[in-house]
Amino acid sequence: MEFTGIKEKTLILIKPDAIQRGLIGEVLTRFERKGLKVAGIKMMSLDEAVLREHYAHIADKPFFPGVSKFMQSSPVVAICVEGLEVVNAVRLITGITKAREAEAGSIRGDFAMSVACNVIHASDSVENAQKEVPRFFKVDELHSYDKGEYNHVYAEDERA
Ligand code: ADP
Repeated sequence: MEFTGIKEKTLILIKPDAIQRGLIGEVLTRFERKGLKVAGIKMMSLDEAVLREHYAHIADKPFFPGVSKFMQSSPVVAICVEGLEVVNAVRLITGITKAREAEAGSIRGDFAMSVACNVIHASDSVENAQKEVPRFFKVDELHSYDKGEYNHVYAEDERA
């Protein structure tokens, strides 16, 4: 899996609150219209083991059992998107954790009020994206293809 230049990848999870509220399309549209390439997409149900691994940095917090229960309350939609400095770009579109204080225009700022139920997960660093993408996608579930739109989304030197 390539994580450099225009092939940098990041992981997005559309969380159960967004699934229940019918926001899959809205969320996906935000990323598509930004010009990002969808390299992989699937619906999946998460178990305690993958959540403990994925949320290892909060696993000892008192709110972790609630987060784990919430993340197992319905399937999630896992998306891998690709683009230049995409990890940072997706975090900006995502907004801060506490959704009711998130910037207007960001996904959390526009669609959520909660800390736990904040619509999506997005990898917070290139290092973490490199671990998270393979955690949720097998090699043959990620697709490499030409996107004609790239001629207009990026300048020539950015595409090199
Ligand atoms: P982010 O998702 O913005 O990267 P964190 O990695 O800090 O945030 O936390 C992971 C997820 O755990 C958050 O998106 C949120 O769903 C949940 N969470 C974080 N902090 C709290 C909290 N204080 N109370 C309840 N849930 C929380």
